[in-house]
Amino acid sequence: MTRQAAIVGAGVVGLAIAAALARRGVEVIVLEKADRPGSETTARNSGVIHAGIYGAPDHLKTRLCVEGRRKLYAYCTERKVDHAKIGKLIVATSEDEVAALHALHTRALGNGVEGLQLIDTHQARQFEPELTAEAALFSPESGIVDAAGLVLALQGEIEDLGGVIAFRTEVDHAEATSQGFRVACGDDVLEVDLLVNSAGLSAQKLAHQVAAYPETRIPEQVLAKGNYFSWQGKSPFRHLIYPMPVRGGLGVHATLDLGGGLRFGPDVEWIDAPNYQVDPNRRDAFADAIRTWWPALDAERLSPDFAGVRPKLKPTDGSVADFLIDLPAHHGVAGLAMLFGIESPGLTSSLAIGDNVARGLLDT
Ligand SMILES: Cc1cc2nc3c(=O)[nH]c(=O)nc-3n(C[C@H](O)[C@H](O)[C@H](O)COP(=O)(O)OP(=O)(O)OC[C@H]3O[C@@H](n4cnc5c(N)ncnc54)[C@H](O)[C@@H]3O)c2cc1C
Repeated sequence: MTRQAAIVGAGVVGLAIAAALARRGVEVIVLEKADRPGSETTARNSGVIHAGIYGAPDHLKTRLCVEGRRKLYAYCTERKVDHAKIGKLIVATSEDEVAALHALHTRALGNGVEGLQLIDTHQARQFEPELTAEAALFSPESGIVDAAGLVLALQGEIEDLGGVIAFRTEVDHAEATSQGFRVACGDDVLEVDLLVNSAGLSAQKLAHQVAAYPETRIPEQVLAKGNYFSWQGKSPFRHLIYPMPVRGGLGVHATLDLGGGLRFGPDVEWIDAPNYQVDPNRRDAFADAIRTWWPALDAERLSPDFAGVRPKLKPTDGSVADFLIDLPAHHGVAGLAMLFGIESPGLTSSLAIGDNVARGLLDT
């Protein structure tokens, strides 16, 4: 008998899960409160395909990033989603940072990242003449993707496989039945066998409304806003340029978009509730951060752009929190998947997350 699944949230992760289930013969309906797909965090990020350099070796985040990156390049090629493997330089600007860069290189090799190259000041200038660096790590597998194009490709695939995306449909609550779940969206009620909470920033709020899910398993969320400034003019860089990572983020980096535009960010601003205004007064702090590796920056050419909000989990031991993908094998409720803390590299990892969740729901 064909199984039916409701996936809450039509961000890139919810859509990737829906596509993975639909490919395995499940009848899927994606429930999305907005009037279009991918309009929340999926529309507010750097659009970078991460190689898998930074993550802790034992983190699910790291494994899904490396696997997701490989799947994403193949999917983009097959489905004609705009992307480019432009490569990335991580830049060390002091002796202390050089030591940290070497440690990062070792970690990345352990994570299975291909093609990495440690380069010196001279070689870094050959890659990017405007750059100032003591040393750098070149990652040829890093790239950029049109996130909106990826969302459309996933939507198309889901619909081709007979799935449905219901927009302007907010899930209020859900309860377990003898067969699966009863899902309430306003006056409408849906009966399904499988239920996935992929509500991004609202995942915790929704989890409290899923009666079958133990409240004690809901992790605490913390929000880290990331602001961006755009650069007016032709980019002097051809690669993604990243400083050494900072607490809560990867440092204010230079991201190129597929149209050749240059943007800087995201920084880390801890907030209590999502908001997307960019304070123009942050420009000086941006300029200071960028000048450590690009001394010739003309700050007058920086303009406030957009912001995104990272749905982070509060780390329990002071370290970086992992993705939390809570599946039946962990929590014991058949047919239920709950996703929390799907921050960066969630875009890169999306297709691997999709397969991981589909396996976790169906192989039980
Ligand atoms: C500043 C920033 C930079 C980033 N840069 C990168 C990067 O370069 N590379 C990378 O790999 N990742 C990056 N990420 C991470 C990436 O953007 C996210 O991991 C990814 O977009 C998360 O997708 P999602 O589907 O989980 O969430 P979302 O896109 O937020 O989707 C969740 C959806 O659920 C819907 N929803 C919520 N509640 C309900 C409800 N009750 N009923 C119905 N619908 C509901 C929302 O409307 C929303 O559409 C970045 C993130 C940020 C914030």
